Amino acid sequence: MTGNDRPSDDRTADDSSAPPDSADSDDTVSADDRVGADDIDADDTAGTDDAVDTDDSISTDPITGRATVSTDVDGDGGVPDSDDATDATDATDTTDTDAPADADESRTDAAPGLFDDLLSGEPIFENKDVLRPSYTPERLPHRNEQINNMATVLVGALRGETPSNILIYGKTGTGKTASAKFVSNELETTSQKYTVPCEVEYINCEVTDTQYRVLAQLANTFIDANERHIEERLAELRDLAERARSDPGMLDDPDSDSAAFADTDFDDIEPGNAGPDDAEPDDADSSAVEFDSVDEIERRIEQLEADLDEFEPVPMTGWPTDRVYSTFFEAVDYHERVVVIMLDEIDKLVEKSGDDTLYNLSRMNSELENSRVSILGISNDLKFTEFLDPRVKSSLGEEEIVFPPYDATQLRDILSARADIAFVENALSEDVIPLCAAFAAQEHGDARRALDLLRTAGELAERGQTERVGEDHVRDAQEKIELDRVVEVVRTLPTQSKVVLFAVILLERNGAQNINTGEVYNIYRRLCEEIDADVLTQRRVTDLISELDMLGIVNAVVVSKGRYGRTKEMNLSVPIDDTEAVLTSDSRLGDIEDVQPFVQARFDS
Ligand code: ADP
Ligand code: MG
Repeated sequence: MTGNDRPSDDRTADDSSAPPDSADSDDTVSADDRVGADDIDADDTAGTDDAVDTDDSISTDPITGRATVSTDVDGDGGVPDSDDATDATDATDTTDTDAPADADESRTDAAPGLFDDLLSGEPIFENKDVLRPSYTPERLPHRNEQINNMATVLVGALRGETPSNILIYGKTGTGKTASAKFVSNELETTSQKYTVPCEVEYINCEVTDTQYRVLAQLANTFIDANERHIEERLAELRDLAERARSDPGMLDDPDSDSAAFADTDFDDIEPGNAGPDDAEPDDADSSAVEFDSVDEIERRIEQLEADLDEFEPVPMTGWPTDRVYSTFFEAVDYHERVVVIMLDEIDKLVEKSGDDTLYNLSRMNSELENSRVSILGISNDLKFTEFLDPRVKSSLGEEEIVFPPYDATQLRDILSARADIAFVENALSEDVIPLCAAFAAQEHGDARRALDLLRTAGELAERGQTERVGEDHVRDAQEKIELDRVVEVVRTLPTQSKVVLFAVILLERNGAQNINTGEVYNIYRRLCEEIDADVLTQRRVTDLISELDMLGIVNAVVVSKGRYGRTKEMNLSVPIDDTEAVLTSDSRLGDIEDVQPFVQARFDS
């Protein structure tokens, strides 16, 4: 019921950003070309952050671990794409998911099949999933201090106290989510061990990004939990009633099952009068009621059944927010417990929907009767509290924990621990981990980047059918990840910026260098007319160029033209082919059939 066993929260975003392979519009390439530069294509953008790939299940295939290599060489979930399909005949064999031996038998005389070559190499990965963001490691080197700080605050929950709210800050890839999930697992495990009612609910606010959704998710989670709790209780009570009917004497015996049973749960709870059952004097929980008669047990059963009927899950949309809130409130307060609500990427929530949610959550405790709520917020943005209502800010930031970036040495430790599980023995040459660590340290000490690099390097080595991952694979991986980033940035540009960029590309294609704003503007204008887009002023276009410059897509410098004033001169700073391919995959730009006349404009003007 908690977020821990629902990493799906994390994944939805990743998943949706992963383009299906149909996006891969490459022409069919021959098998020999498989390992060429063509491999680095748009469909792999997901590779940097594809928490959920269907290939994961395949990689655990017990077939000697080799099946990993065979079924998903390109990390695309095993979906055959043009890289995979050599010809129609072979394509039919891709459906043969059986042991490789079968394939061998059936094609003794035929040319080697699509997967045969790939299978012939030794596997590199033992368990690739370990390198994916979705994997929660058991140990988190270099995060002891932060983890202990969190635990010191949250231990209150196990004593029935309300822990202070916590705010965690740190750049991406500094282990915030992993540490928070680690602590939440431990907290829940311990609470079960001591049967203390403590629950942790994890919400990724990048996905669940409105007050309605956050509250609805919380409400429904606690309704579920309550329902399960009641069902269990009902089963016990029905059983008890059954036994009491056949042995009426058992209810009189204090040592009997019923007494013991009544002690198993939230036995010292004084029920409050909030919640759906507030009309009932008896609590919804299994307080230490000693049932004197079967009738009494049956009354209790009826009460619980009535409670069960009263819970109404919140629909995805449509209710007024205060109804969602009160449903959540009542569900949490149904019985005694301490609830830790982890709001990951909390800055995204505030950015998108303001701080109402946080305001509402942070003042709940004064009204809750049975339960207590504590908030653990996680932010990538160090300055996000500036946008908060001062009351929210002070309540949320009762405790603050900072996650500093990792340095290269720390990243090495993190990578080494993972690599031990992820790769087969001796699969990495010795400079691989230090190099990944060094690259990622430059990238603000981002462990996610380091792991991405290591995984991608492994995948490239696998494709190259080498047995060891080498330094070159890491460098290629670095390039590939960087390219993936560019592709993603370009893909998500607003249309106007795309047109501006397209103009720059057309000019460069025609040999222009140090292109000035006027030239870009001329072509931009014609392109806009062609695709029926609004034509912005040259001044606005200059702004868009500055934005492209900031994103690292073009490199623009201001040059003085003497008495003609100043202008910007720019060059493309990303690979032209890939960038153009992304732009023309936008249907509006892709529909322009012949761009030559537009480029001609440069020479006309
Ligand atoms: P953040 O939430 O700060 O952006 P994450 O917790 O998601 O970062 O970490 C990014 C990746 O790096 C995850 O795969 C995580 O498991 C891994 N990671 C981060 N810190 C550590 C660490 N100290 N030890 C092992 N793995 C780590
Ligand atoms: Mg995170």
